[in-house]
Amino acid sequence: EAWNSPMAEVPERTVLDTGVPHIARVYDYWLGGKDNFAADREVGDQVLATGNAVTENVRANRAFLGRAVRYLSAEAGVRQFLDIGTGLPSVDSTHEVAQLIAPESRIAYVDNDPIVLAHARALLTSHPDGATCYIHADARDTATVLAEAARVLDFDRPVAVMMVGLLHCIPDEDDPAGLVATVLDAVAPGSYLTVSQPAADIHTEVMASTAAVMRALMPQKITYRTREQVARFLDGVELLEPGLVSAPHWRPAAGADPTPRSVWAGMGIKR
Ligand code: SAM
Repeated sequence: EAWNSPMAEVPERTVLDTGVPHIARVYDYWLGGKDNFAADREVGDQVLATGNAVTENVRANRAFLGRAVRYLSAEAGVRQFLDIGTGLPSVDSTHEVAQLIAPESRIAYVDNDPIVLAHARALLTSHPDGATCYIHADARDTATVLAEAARVLDFDRPVAVMMVGLLHCIPDEDDPAGLVATVLDAVAPGSYLTVSQPAADIHTEVMASTAAVMRALMPQKITYRTREQVARFLDGVELLEPGLVSAPHWRPAAGADPTPRSVWAGMGIKR
């Protein structure tokens, strides 16, 4: 049984309405995935119509996730990952990258989209030496997230907390900085925090038009933030080089396209 999650059963409270756009599936559409519906594609197309290079933005975000996990695993030697806001199956998922480098890596995924949940079993085929679990929970319910994650992760050892493409889904009134601080409090010194989210202040005008489309069409409130606002999420950690930068500029591969994309990305260590 490759699927070794303690949460393998689908919770009964799960509801799915494919007639309403959802951020996980809109993002999947922009990435060129198959797990999206007409309502998601409508939002996706209207954003493309603003002239936003959103396809490049989401690819830059996803590539940042891959480089971040590779760095954490290969260079920092981290063997435990708490990936909040997993998303739908796509290239270079956290457990794939981490377990390719270190098969014994343990990963706890968290998402609250029922479609992500439906894919979890197929997606999360762990290496037998490691472990991968999927927690269907709202990131804001940190008590549940941390209690469930503790079933696969050892909180006395460093954990890489991944909040990649997550915090724009948490509006200011729901205290995203408090969420980050609570999770950071729970992990051992030597743990890492990785954050990315859409930038309000890179290609500012087109991001403002995009925000208007999202506000009009998405039931979930999506918040684009400035560099200064995103930097506050990393207050509790010591930023690693090169700091908080446009996603393509975070430890790029040799020869990578240096065009800035509307995504802030950074990583820090908890001392
Ligand atoms: N981390 C992946 C990546 O960067 O490629 C996926 C990013 S996708 C834009 C955001 C994900 O966060 C979606 O799968 C969405 O369902 C999830 N999400 C949004 N709000 C959430 C919440 N309050 N609790 C749990 N997951 C949430």
